[in-house]
Amino acid sequence: MKQQKTRVRFAPSPTGPLHIGGVRTALYNYLFAKQRGGDFILRIEDTDSTRFVPGSEEYIQEAFDWLGLPFDESPREGGDYGPYRQSQRREIYKEQVHRLLERGAAYIAFDTPEELDAKRKEVPNFQYDASTRGQMRNSLTLGKEETKRLIDRKTQYVVRVKIEPNREIAVDDMIRGKVVINSSVLDDKVIYKSADELPTYHLANVVDDHLMKITHVIRGEEWLPSAPLHVWLYQNLGWETTMPKFAHLPLLLKPEGNGKLSKRDGDRLGFPVFPLEWKDPASGQLSMGYREAGYLPEAVINFLALLGWNPGTEQELFTLDELIQAFSFERCSKSGAKFDIDKAKWYNHQYIQNMSNLVIAKQFHPTLEEKGISVSIEKVTRIVGLIKDRVHFLKELWEQSYFFFEAPTNYDEKTARKRWKEETPDQMRQLIELFETMENFTANHQETVVKQWISENGFNMGGIMNALRLAIVGEPKGPAIFVITELIGKRETIRRIEGAINTLSLSA
Ligand code: GLU
Repeated sequence: MKQQKTRVRFAPSPTGPLHIGGVRTALYNYLFAKQRGGDFILRIEDTDSTRFVPGSEEYIQEAFDWLGLPFDESPREGGDYGPYRQSQRREIYKEQVHRLLERGAAYIAFDTPEELDAKRKEVPNFQYDASTRGQMRNSLTLGKEETKRLIDRKTQYVVRVKIEPNREIAVDDMIRGKVVINSSVLDDKVIYKSADELPTYHLANVVDDHLMKITHVIRGEEWLPSAPLHVWLYQNLGWETTMPKFAHLPLLLKPEGNGKLSKRDGDRLGFPVFPLEWKDPASGQLSMGYREAGYLPEAVINFLALLGWNPGTEQELFTLDELIQAFSFERCSKSGAKFDIDKAKWYNHQYIQNMSNLVIAKQFHPTLEEKGISVSIEKVTRIVGLIKDRVHFLKELWEQSYFFFEAPTNYDEKTARKRWKEETPDQMRQLIELFETMENFTANHQETVVKQWISENGFNMGGIMNALRLAIVGEPKGPAIFVITELIGKRETIRRIEGAINTLSLSA
């Protein structure tokens, strides 16, 4: 038999921004599919109109555009198995609901919410199932004619699955192995509602996975409890032989490891839990995004890939292609992965180091222009090379390099107190004279000449160097001081030393 083409889907509900755990789920789907030359599909599960949040679908699509994980089929791109929004597939689901009813695998129930509530109060731990369905208002207790009469009179109803008790239902999971449950624990879940003529998640999800020829269902562990019902649906729809394989991914945990990572943890600890910034359309509340926080998409992908999966080696940095090669469910952990934002920052730092200085310079240049600084891209490229190992985010470039472009406007007080001594102004004046005599202003030459001058005069090396840095940078930071002075040039160097003598000697 011809090997079936691997087809996986990411199936979010448009209920708001995508949680970073959802991004990881999508990523594992992508890696697995691409390793096998398969398709990666986006399906929007929007059958619950009460939870619909406008803008979510656009947000999801934009997030994957940014991440660089393209869908082979999606609402936007279309494909042979569309539509890819469940709300546009009503007729398809209705047909399958009828098949289940005809087979006696489902029944119609008229119980109103009030009646169900009353029953729940009356019977502790009430569950609508084989043990209770005989006491309820449904097609099994009312009979064919009464059911027809009620439907003709436009009475609202739901369709429920009719779970046979005491059967074994097995879910084969690529991460957890075989999980067997007894069908008696399942209830007769609602799969269709006449009120909006829409199926519920369970039916729509299974029907679409079948019709879209999905071979592997890879999703979060929160869906594991639904899996037995899904298996039951495949069996009762007669699709058991083409049932997809399952993989339920472990949760992303709070940094402390106790419980599921939530938006509140991000707010509490100051890191994003969404790929892109999100403005809640109802409350107007703004939530941080990885993109806006300055993370590179490649770093986010690499970071997420290793949250729940490991390569079995010490390797931590992977290109997307390497991840596609290396990924496997055998190396996915069964237990939750603690979220570690410092690791995400580390990845971002690593990816910045691997970017070419020119590429970074081109991104940095507009920031400089906005500040009214005109400087060649060659010079910015050189400066980037000197400071990039000090940044975790590209937006930190300015604070690590401003002194290449402008003189300090104030001087770090603590350093000034410690480094700017009584004798310093006079020494700095001598240093200006020394600089004036120098034709060659390269870092190397400056260093040789200045060091010689220091030892000839019996000055303190640290004292001079720290004072010079304070004058040029304003703070005790930055790359080698003579590299800075070479780049800003002799005139600017002298001007800054004069500025420091004036300002700091006054305040002393
Ligand atoms: N619509 C479900 C969700 O929002 C899909 C779960 C699944 O992948 O089966 O996550």
